[in-house]
Amino acid sequence: MDPISYERAADVNGALRSAQEPGSMYIGGGTNLLDLMKGGVSRPMRLIDITRIGGLDTVATLPDGGLRIGALVRNTDAANHALVRERYPLLSQAFLAGASPQLRNMATVGGNLMQRTRCQYFYDTAFAQCNKRLPGSGCAALEGLNRTHAILGASPQCIAVNPSDMSVALAALDAVVRVRGPSGERAVPIGEFHRLPGARPDLDTTLQMGELILAVDLPPPLFGDHAHYLKVRDRASYAFALVSVAAALQMDGNTVKDARIALGGVAHKPWRASAAEQALNGRPLTDARLREAASAALADARAQRDNAFKIELAQRAIVRAVKQAANPASPLAADDAGGLA
Ligand code: SF4
Repeated sequence: MDPISYERAADVNGALRSAQEPGSMYIGGGTNLLDLMKGGVSRPMRLIDITRIGGLDTVATLPDGGLRIGALVRNTDAANHALVRERYPLLSQAFLAGASPQLRNMATVGGNLMQRTRCQYFYDTAFAQCNKRLPGSGCAALEGLNRTHAILGASPQCIAVNPSDMSVALAALDAVVRVRGPSGERAVPIGEFHRLPGARPDLDTTLQMGELILAVDLPPPLFGDHAHYLKVRDRASYAFALVSVAAALQMDGNTVKDARIALGGVAHKPWRASAAEQALNGRPLTDARLREAASAALADARAQRDNAFKIELAQRAIVRAVKQAANPASPLAADDAGGLA
């Protein structure tokens, strides 16, 4: 077993200083990192426990009417916070769709942003080929079991997907991630926080060495109840998404003023379905237009051997999620695990 040193950071500056040491990693709830360490996938030499840093575990309104959720807020607390439930129901739904109650009680918002793919070849070190775990080694999933893998934005080096539900809702809401590093603080739009694999699938995010996530900022709420998070998975709970859709709408009668649609389970990052949004914006919401929009969202999709079903599934899920967002009182989504329209 490799020796690991542990220290508890008292404040952000102390954590940043400690993180300059080679082999350092921050640990919050540990719900993903400890699994990765037990499996030998992550081998930090030094763990910096950030859970006792003050001020990062609060939810507060911003002067512009938005909301700041601290990086150390637990997923359960964020999901059930009154301001999140009332003003960003999409985000609350996405939190509650993730993992299990026990994991949500431990996992932090910052950790949720940092969780790594659940590709089985990444987790199993018996497989010699995984460009994400061992850069340059190849990708076992390309010729292996790839039913759960990407249909959008993949590269010949990696076809893994991002597993987060929360991040899909954040993508639809245009959230901003606030981070601090040795050279100061910066605001990273959520669409630029996670990466596509390209030639560097070992990098999941655009975080720089030693940077610490401080909070997630949400713009002022625009969508009211016209929002729905739909997660389609192999079982009703404690499973990662085959496909998920975060849909939020501004409606004027039956006309869509502004649509926000993001997909999960389909790419290396939460996937903003911009073509679908453009197909809907400024137009009456009809079944035909919604199907056109869903088709546009998947126009560039490319299937692997086992996951062609995801292309049709994603289109159906978009149709259903947007319909439910447009008509939140409808019983359409009473069972959002199956029976897609
Ligand atoms: Fe590794 Fe990515 Fe290939 Fe999975 S899909 S085996 S994570 S390189």
